Amino acid sequence: MRTLLPVRHAMQQARNRRLPNWLRLAYWAAAHADENGHARAYPGDLRRLLAVDAHEVSRAIRLAKARGLLAESSHAGCLVLAGCATSACDAEHQELA
Ligand SMILES: [Zn+2]
Repeated sequence: MRTLLPVRHAMQQARNRRLPNWLRLAYWAAAHADENGHARAYPGDLRRLLAVDAHEVSRAIRLAKARGLLAESSHAGCLVLAGCATSACDAEHQELA
């Protein structure tokens, strides 16, 4: 359930402007991930969350991967929790990239 305390905490930290963007994205992914470790993002979701352009979103995803928080398969359409993904992105996910 999305009302669980850890999920609420993760969403609060995703909105915390004092944190670096790569960490905020990792929190967002933790709050939104499905049972397979995928946090699907619709176009513009991540840009609006961070209030940045698409280039900066890509940079934040790259940094979160480098720091081991997001899996290498993550992209702007789907953030994948490192070490937790139990499947690859399905075709529907990829269309949103
Ligand atoms: Zn996915």
